[in-house]
Amino acid sequence: MKSSPLSQLGRRITEPPIAWLMKRSLDHPQLISLAAGFTDNPSLPVEEARASLDEVLSSPQTGQPALQYGPSAGDGRLRRLTAERAQRQDQADGPQYATDRVLITHGSQQLLYLLCEALCDAGDIVLLEDPTYFVFLGIAQSRAIQCRGVRLAEDGIDLAQLEATLETLKRSGELPRVKMLYLVTYYQNPTGITTALEKKAGALALLKHYERAAGHPIYLLEDAAYRELRFAGADVHSALAVKGGKDRVIYTGTYSKPFATGVRVGYGLLPEPLYTVVLRIRGNHDFGTSNLLQQILAQAIDTGRYEKHLGVLQKRYAQKAAVMADAIGKNFPAGVEWRPPQGGLYVWARAPQSVRTGIKSRFFQKAMRQDVLYVPGELCYADDPRRAKPNHEMRLSFGGAKEADIQEGIARLGRVLREMRVK
Ligand code: PMP
Repeated sequence: MKSSPLSQLGRRITEPPIAWLMKRSLDHPQLISLAAGFTDNPSLPVEEARASLDEVLSSPQTGQPALQYGPSAGDGRLRRLTAERAQRQDQADGPQYATDRVLITHGSQQLLYLLCEALCDAGDIVLLEDPTYFVFLGIAQSRAIQCRGVRLAEDGIDLAQLEATLETLKRSGELPRVKMLYLVTYYQNPTGITTALEKKAGALALLKHYERAAGHPIYLLEDAAYRELRFAGADVHSALAVKGGKDRVIYTGTYSKPFATGVRVGYGLLPEPLYTVVLRIRGNHDFGTSNLLQQILAQAIDTGRYEKHLGVLQKRYAQKAAVMADAIGKNFPAGVEWRPPQGGLYVWARAPQSVRTGIKSRFFQKAMRQDVLYVPGELCYADDPRRAKPNHEMRLSFGGAKEADIQEGIARLGRVLREMRVK
């Protein structure tokens, strides 16, 4: 055959690395996976989900609507509860927290995709953290969106480098192609870093400043997927609460991780006119998230079961994070940099630059032979023409693995590091 029937996207798309990593652990059940972002199995809320489902189905009045198609924007009660939670967490007020700004989606992943569709054509530019959430990079790659990475400091993105990047894009005439800055602001996947409120405000001010030259708004997309998985330190307000944030911030969150990844419900708070556009696109995708799943969640939130379960989960992850931190402290050579997590599911470990950790590296192969899997850091860096991808880091997840496996997996990685003569 001379030509392909596939669309440009169909031809461009590559296998998501996560699919390969997941397949690897399914094919090798003996493998200790510190790679996949699975959540903790034993603490999944079976009782809470059953009680909520029973209540929803206890009468035809509540059961029938739950078993019917629902509104495309999401279940009314869940949208209201979502808006109220966001407002309570931020201790702020304003139209950005209105129920009619809430869109419920099939996981927040769906919303990230919809937003890219609504805002970006092929060749458009997204600014993001270096490193960032690698599944977002998959969306960008498949849609031919260009990425520019901005360095991450201990408290979020480096504002000076963000400004320099915007300035360079202005000079090269590419600013009109810049559509958004994507930040994972709480216990970031993959580094565990939380963005300080001043950094969110600073980033917003910079975007605002460059809007004039861009000729259109440049949005701040705040992905707060791990906000509720906090087990140390105080909550930080979202960018919605920052002055100037109400029409420029897109806030996405999820009920997957704090409740159940199998009840795949996510959400966003979006300003107009973006809200209406995304809702229309979503109408073509699936015209709504499963109503029954939304009702289970709304019921769990309304009855307080969700909040109670969240408390249990936070303690559970605090404990698993401590197990991982303790094991790393005991087994990793001092030349590997890392910091104890305060929330989320990940530890980011940085080997000396001479030690490559990528999929093709000796280190990765050795770890595989020891039956331990991690996410190579290189996967979390966008293709950015301005720099080579760092290739000496690992994302280690304490979410899915059992505590004994976390200890054993880290001990094995420690042995591999020593074999590679890391001191
Ligand atoms: N954002 C980040 C940073 C994530 O790590 C994930 C899940 N791995 C998501 C969004 C999507 O999660 P979900 O679709 O389950 O809401």
